[in-house]
Amino acid sequence: MNEEAPYDYVIAGGGTAGWMAAAGLARFAPPGTRIALVESDAIGTVGVGEATIPQIHLWLNALGLDEREFLIKTKASFKLGIAFDGWLREGHSYMHAFGQVGRAHGLLPFQHYWLRAKAAGFAKPLAAYSLNEVAARNLRMAKGQPGALPYAYHFDAGLYAQHLRAFAEMRGVVRIEGTIGDVVCDGESGDIAALLLDGGRRVAGKFFMDCSGFRALLIEGALGAGFDDWSHYLPCDRAMAVACDSGGEFTPYTRSIARKAGWQWRIPLQHRIGNGMVFSSAHLSEDEAAATLLANLDGAPQGDPRPIRFTTGKRKEHWKNNCLALGLAAGFMEPLESTSIHLVQSAVSRFLSVLPGTTGTQATRNWFNSQADFEWQRIRDFLVLHYHANQREGEPFWDDVRHMALPDTLVAKLDLWRATGFIHREHEELFTEVGWFQVLAGQGVAAESYNPMADSLSEAELRLMLDQTEAAIANQTRPMQGHIQFLQNYASGPSPRVEVPA
Ligand SMILES: Cc1cc2nc3c(=O)[nH]c(=O)nc-3n(C[C@H](O)[C@H](O)[C@H](O)COP(=O)(O)OP(=O)(O)OC[C@H]3O[C@@H](n4cnc5c(N)ncnc54)[C@H](O)[C@@H]3O)c2cc1C
Repeated sequence: MNEEAPYDYVIAGGGTAGWMAAAGLARFAPPGTRIALVESDAIGTVGVGEATIPQIHLWLNALGLDEREFLIKTKASFKLGIAFDGWLREGHSYMHAFGQVGRAHGLLPFQHYWLRAKAAGFAKPLAAYSLNEVAARNLRMAKGQPGALPYAYHFDAGLYAQHLRAFAEMRGVVRIEGTIGDVVCDGESGDIAALLLDGGRRVAGKFFMDCSGFRALLIEGALGAGFDDWSHYLPCDRAMAVACDSGGEFTPYTRSIARKAGWQWRIPLQHRIGNGMVFSSAHLSEDEAAATLLANLDGAPQGDPRPIRFTTGKRKEHWKNNCLALGLAAGFMEPLESTSIHLVQSAVSRFLSVLPGTTGTQATRNWFNSQADFEWQRIRDFLVLHYHANQREGEPFWDDVRHMALPDTLVAKLDLWRATGFIHREHEELFTEVGWFQVLAGQGVAAESYNPMADSLSEAELRLMLDQTEAAIANQTRPMQGHIQFLQNYASGPSPRVEVPA
């Protein structure tokens, strides 16, 4: 057995979460901090996780990664929002697009003016008033000008992890290949002391990051943090994932397409399209899900659909003793709004904000865990809204989710919206009022009223405001380049070059 001085940080697992933690610590921990990451090639990573949200820029900028190189290395495309096809009913589509919708006037956000115009019968669908949606639907992309489009990326999850690995290793992170067989805890404090690897190797540490994926070897296996099971709110418990050759439109947006007992994602990358079905095993078999997925691809499948099983929910404590859980080890909510990678980023950032944060005090852990609870619960509520407010009547899965009991926090939000057209974003809730507005409107959740201050405009003034907003968006979109062309131009330069689908 090897005895080495304990590392300051030992990261268990080298998926997206592990290498994000390694990159963050390598960049921001004090000089001389010793960091090790243990991963097992034999076990591999979950291998999906390709869509992000605009907050990813905070992370990439903090690390100091060059965007052009990032686009090339991860074979990324741009993402302006998510289209929800068939979520309200078959044939209907709306978008949760990033950025503003309409414009505020006086003391009121846009939604009140839109609700008034809707009641009077002259509001267009929200799509007309969203620059991101108009650009996305027209397969356009632009960047860097005033009023430019807020965007995120679609990227290859494996290549993203490799990119971060190169960053972290260059800054001294030691990668240890091996399978963790056991976790040794200190009898008195209960803290983790070391990981025992195959072949008897021992990796001792002062602080541990559990990035071991759904296995949660440290936070659950060794420390028994407990799990809040949220399957009664989000009953999908399976995914089938398959990549296919490029084909169809190279959309600068993710597509989420409602199916019989769940939904299908479509994420175009430079070299392929990522696809998957998220579904409820109580309503659909894996074989049926695979058949639906294969019947709805835009190119030849690259292999057989791969099943992934999960239980929606989160650890009761994300930080317990001297261990912080990140990524799938911390919990999982389906990728309907592409939030998992963001949750890793936000947890790493929160942890870094209390460096040196070795074992941490109980007060620090309580603070961290209550922030995480709040963040996860509010995202959960937003996801539940998409399911609950469907009008796909007569389909057993959709009927069930329409009638399921809702979290109190979501009920309160819906009551406020219905009665007043007001949307309350509490503290640092991830999704903005505009995001909620788009999904509420898109899912057909009617507000019975709007704020009477919206009546301060005459009807002619309101019509003019809406028409001008729509016209300004159309004008801004017209000169934009196509998504492929933009990607090619933006990322062009010396070899390696960006790849674009044929
Ligand atoms: C179907 C699906 C779709 C998703 N889509 C999105 C999306 O679009 N956007 C998004 O943001 N997120 C998405 N996610 C989530 C995203 O994939 C994960 O949050 C992210 O990849 C982090 O995974 P991870 O690193 O925690 O786990 P993993 O990728 O599973 O990595 C676990 C690591 O632990 C190692 N390990 C495990 N056991 C041992 C052991 N005994 N010894 C040594 N090493 C071990 C493995 O080798 C691996 O390196 C999706 C997830 C799923 C399931």
